[in-house]
Amino acid sequence: MSGKLINGKEIGEIIRQSIQKEVNDLQEQGVTPGLAVILVGDNPASKTYVSNKQKSCEQIGIYSELIELSADTTEETLLNEINKLNADPAIDGILVQLPLPKHITEQNVIAAISPEKDVDGFHPESVGKMILGQPTYLPCTPYGVMKLLEYANIDVAGKHAVIVGRSHIVGVPMGQLLLQKDATVTYCHSKTPDLVAMTTQADILVVATGRAKMIGAEHVKEGAVVIDVGINRDENNKLCGDVDFDAVVDKVSAITPVPKGVGPMTITMLLFNTLQSAKKKLTQDK
Ligand code: NDP
Repeated sequence: MSGKLINGKEIGEIIRQSIQKEVNDLQEQGVTPGLAVILVGDNPASKTYVSNKQKSCEQIGIYSELIELSADTTEETLLNEINKLNADPAIDGILVQLPLPKHITEQNVIAAISPEKDVDGFHPESVGKMILGQPTYLPCTPYGVMKLLEYANIDVAGKHAVIVGRSHIVGVPMGQLLLQKDATVTYCHSKTPDLVAMTTQADILVVATGRAKMIGAEHVKEGAVVIDVGINRDENNKLCGDVDFDAVVDKVSAITPVPKGVGPMTITMLLFNTLQSAKKKLTQDK
C-alpha cells in the first residue's frame, strides 16, 4: 500500500482561486489589498521566499511592495520603516522576512508591526488571541497545514497529534490549532529522550525540525498521516523534507511531499490573511 499524497500545490491553487475572486470583488469596490515585505540583508533562501511571495501577490492582484535593506541596517531604521508602513493606507499586511541579522532583536521588530497588519500572525497580541481561540491572523504555515488536513478530509478530533519541533512560527502554534480542533497533542523537541516512542503513537505526525530526512519508517505508526514541514537540501542538493519520504510512504495512509506539500500553503495563507485585512478596512471605511 502506498500512502495518499496530500498535494499542497493543488489544494493551494483551489484556495487561491477563491482568494482571487474576492480580490477582484474588492477591486470593483475601489480597494486593492496591499502587502509590504521587508527583507534585511542578502540571505539567498530569504530572497527566494520573498520573490515567491511577491510573484504570488502579483498573480492574484494583490499589490506588493518590497523594502530591501542592507545587512548593516540598524534596528532603529528598520523600526522607522515599519512605522511608516503601519501608517500607510495602501498597505494591509506587513511581513518582515526572518531570520534577521544578529544585531537586530526580532522580538522588538515583530512587536512594532501593527497587530491590524500582522498577516504573519507573530505579534504577541495575535499569538495571545490564537491561544484564546479569538479571531486573529493565524500563522501561515500551521494555518496552511490545517487547511491541507481539511481539504484532504482528515478528521482531527480525537486523534493523537504528535508535533516534532517547538518553534514559535511552526511547532508551537501547530499544536495549538490541532488542540482547538480537539486533537490530543504531544510536543517533541531536541531534548525528548525517546523520540520513536512518541512519534509511533501519532495518528497525525507533524514534523518541523529542519533536519533533512530525520524521520524514517521506524518513527511512524502504520496508517498514520504524516505532514512534513521541513525544507532542506539533501546530499545531491535536491529539495527534501524532514521526513524520509521514500522510507515511510508505504507505511502511512497519507503524506505531504516536499516540494508541493506545505510550502505552497504557507504563501496561500499569507495571501488569505492579507485579503482579510483589506476586507476589514472596507467595513471600517463604511
Ligand atoms: P527551528 O530551527 O526554529 O526549530 C526546529 C525545532 O526542531 C526545534 O524546536 C528543535 O528543538 C527541534 N529539533 C531539532 N532537531 C531535533 C531532533 N533531532 N529531534 C527532535 N526535535 C528536534 O525551525 P522552524 O520551526 O523555523 O522550521 C522547521 C523546518 O520547517 C525547517 O526545515 C524550515 O525550513 C521549515 N519551514 C518550512 C516552511 C514552509 O512553508 N513549508 C515555513 C517555515 C519553516 P529545540 O527547541 O529543543 O531546539
